[in-house]
Amino acid sequence: MRVKCVICDDINNIDSNCLQAKRLRNRRLTTYMCPSCHERISEKTKQRLATGDFRIYKERKTEKYLS
Ligand SMILES: [Zn+2]
Repeated sequence: MRVKCVICDDINNIDSNCLQAKRLRNRRLTTYMCPSCHERISEKTKQRLATGDFRIYKERKTEKYLS
């Protein structure tokens, strides 16, 4: 399925059966980030450990390895 990165508007094709695709379909609030943006954001995320946003990115990282 085609997904658009929320940060740079890049269009990517991901496997429709992968966990990330399923999550994007089931949870409309979930947004997609391309790998390069993900890298940049994860750097910032390390500095935001205390804010409570960290959990979201940790889940994405797990999915990356599974799919
Ligand atoms: Zn991007």
